[in-house]
Amino acid sequence: SLTLGIVGLPNVGKSTLFNALTKNDVLAANYPFATIEPNVGVVELPDPRLNRLADIFGSQRILPATVSFVDIAGIVKGASEGAGLGNKFLANIREAEAICQVVRVFADDDVVHVDGRVDPLGDIEIIETELILADIQTLEKAVPRLEKEAKKNKELKPQHEEAIKAQAVLDEGDTLFSKKSTLDFGLLRELNLMTTKPFLYVFNADESVLTDDAKKQELRDAVAPADCVFLDAKVESELIELEPDEAQELLDSIGQDEAGLDSLARVGFHTLGLQTYLTAGPKEARAWTIPQGATAPQAAGVIHSDFERGFIKAEIVSFADLDDAGSMAEAKSRGKVRMEGKDYVMADGDVVEFRFNV
Ligand code: GDP
Repeated sequence: SLTLGIVGLPNVGKSTLFNALTKNDVLAANYPFATIEPNVGVVELPDPRLNRLADIFGSQRILPATVSFVDIAGIVKGASEGAGLGNKFLANIREAEAICQVVRVFADDDVVHVDGRVDPLGDIEIIETELILADIQTLEKAVPRLEKEAKKNKELKPQHEEAIKAQAVLDEGDTLFSKKSTLDFGLLRELNLMTTKPFLYVFNADESVLTDDAKKQELRDAVAPADCVFLDAKVESELIELEPDEAQELLDSIGQDEAGLDSLARVGFHTLGLQTYLTAGPKEARAWTIPQGATAPQAAGVIHSDFERGFIKAEIVSFADLDDAGSMAEAKSRGKVRMEGKDYVMADGDVVEFRFNV
């Protein structure tokens, strides 16, 4: 499954956040036979629509979609030169589809900052610079190789030219992702460059910042268009130990609408370019994960590859229409249930039943 790799400078709260992510333990509850790597934390994507579907269909259980985070230890200044765990770190990052950087915003004199001051944007730049330098190194080797190969094989010419374009972007100090619209990532894919990955920033803040909308907007603007989340990692590690009503009380007391892990799941899902569709029956109400823009047969393939191969039609009602109608029968009699064919692009909140040949 697609993962976000957690990175960040030392002492910013990565372990604290990661512990909260792993303790939350949703896989163990819902998928008892799944094997979970020790460095992977899985969170559920909160989706109240599933509770409503379970009511309508009398479903016995609810299976939300999940988002996975991988703990990638050890980025330090100089990682791109192989300092510390540098090389291993870079290899691990290449495996993740998106990069989730934990950034320290909380002030606490008892927790040493590596550079002696709390400076979120400065920290972001340090990590970004290491990743840019690593990509520059990759391209310093790849470009001459591609040039040589392109002389023999004309088909590699576009790849060579794109690699040179990418070099120019990095030389300006920009990430490749920030120039996504001007680059062909397909031609660069094989090079496995790090700054083509989307970023999500987790601002680890205390209550004074979490309730300061102006300060949050300032940070949000500074990293836009990248995604970001504000949370207090220490509070998150307390929240997961509490019963739901106690957790709600704690959230209320610090002026938060929802748990930080819930926001993180939602935003992480977006960063990865994913969306869900829903199925429901007497056994379960369930959310299925698909890439944004997936067609109906591709969506069916997530349930079972046979469903994609033998796809005939999808019977679809939007969650909002089904919710209004209160039952499938009523939704049908209101003309809200559609038959969609193989070219249909799935919309968020589609409630689906597939028709297929086996
Ligand atoms: P890591 O090195 O990035 O993994 O950071 P840790 O998770 O080990 O956190 C470093 C220290 O900061 C620990 O003493 C944590 O208890 C503390 N810490 C983490 N998050 C917060 C936070 O949100 N607020 C405060 N005040 N301290 C935190």
